[in-house]
Amino acid sequence: MDVYLSPAQLEMRADVRSFLDENYPPERILQMETDEEYPDDFYREAAARGWTGIPVPAEHGGSDGSVLDLCVFVEEVGKTSIAMSTLYITGTIFGSHALHICGSDEQASRYLPAIVAGDKRFALSMSEPAAGSDFAGMEATAEKVDGGWRINGVKGPISGAERAEVIITAARTSSHPGQSRNKGLTLFLVENPAKGLSFVQRKFPAMKALMVNNVHYDDVIVGDDAVLGEVDEGWLNLAKLMDPERLANAAQTIGVAQAAIDDGVAYACSREQYGGPISRFQAVSHPLAEAQAEVAAARLLVYAAAHKRDVEGPCHMEASMAKMLANNVAARATSAALQVAGAAGWERDSHFVRRNIEVRGCELGGGTSQIQRNIIARHMGLR
Ligand SMILES: Cc1cc2nc3c(=O)[nH]c(=O)nc-3n(C[C@H](O)[C@H](O)[C@H](O)COP(=O)(O)OP(=O)(O)OC[C@H]3O[C@@H](n4cnc5c(N)ncnc54)[C@H](O)[C@@H]3O)c2cc1C
Repeated sequence: MDVYLSPAQLEMRADVRSFLDENYPPERILQMETDEEYPDDFYREAAARGWTGIPVPAEHGGSDGSVLDLCVFVEEVGKTSIAMSTLYITGTIFGSHALHICGSDEQASRYLPAIVAGDKRFALSMSEPAAGSDFAGMEATAEKVDGGWRINGVKGPISGAERAEVIITAARTSSHPGQSRNKGLTLFLVENPAKGLSFVQRKFPAMKALMVNNVHYDDVIVGDDAVLGEVDEGWLNLAKLMDPERLANAAQTIGVAQAAIDDGVAYACSREQYGGPISRFQAVSHPLAEAQAEVAAARLLVYAAAHKRDVEGPCHMEASMAKMLANNVAARATSAALQVAGAAGWERDSHFVRRNIEVRGCELGGGTSQIQRNIIARHMGLR
């Protein structure tokens, strides 16, 4: 089922797997989630091994990797820890792609080598407590001041914001009667820490190691050189950024789902009831078999969409289809695995229950499944 992958991608995937197996066994992941231990070591090691350079052009020290390379990478990391794969998606992928899509040459030189070195992690601050799916309704503002901009508002939930060195922040810079709400939004590169910037941790049941925050901007001043892309045209750039984000999100949930299935199979083969392993009951084995087939199909769609993005450019419909399908398949697969493990799967510290909750969180980030269906329907001409 690896028809889309090159020998180099298979080799990278094997390297990632052996690094994670050696350094992050399941007990360590559990401890990190329980203690809310931010995956600093993982990120540093990823940088040392060249993985934070995957999406960065060679002229800035990266390896010029493709979106498909990124999907293979985050899928493998997601098998081990969603906190780590999400840190990579926000820290590395958001930053490098945003700079590629709309950064100036000066901004690219300022930040891309630092992304490769693992010195600058990014976060994407778009949603607000009152503007989630409908993020064009955002209320955060950026007002022009002498030599820069003054940002005010509250954003959230934002993955990994508190520990990011740069927070890509969307704020309203203009609004005129009759103007589309999609106009008048601007993106800013906000360095963290900054005067007036503060964080409140959201209490989510998964990804506790990464930390998801509300971000408070209280008269945060940034220079004119912090504007990312054209003033008032942030919406267009965010739309372009969404394809790789959704594909990476989809790929990581495929990784979580595969890990849940693998553990479900191991549990079913080792757990004995009625004088033998429960794997001999079709009611136990069939849900796992069905989940495996669905995960294989969703994985192919993710790879095909990533390949299209690499070869042809924007792929909004394919990225939305891949995210919706992968997230929904992963929810069913992790639920099937949880059922196979019975009460053992329902323990607070069980990886079965953790994975089931993790994929639900992924389904919300980057636009819910309903929003993905809206996008797909629109591309089908259903208006
Ligand atoms: C773990 C996690 C990490 C996140 N990380 C980030 C991040 O890094 N950066 C960031 O900017 N945001 C982030 N988010 C926010 C995420 O993008 C929003 O949660 C998401 O867009 C949904 O917004 P909402 O939660 O306000 O739900 P709402 O928009 O209030 O929606 C509530 C429900 O109504 C449905 N709904 C709303 N509108 C429609 C519609 N038009 N058609 C059909 N159904 C609709 C939704 O699908 C949902 O089921 C994160 C969220 C989570 C859970």
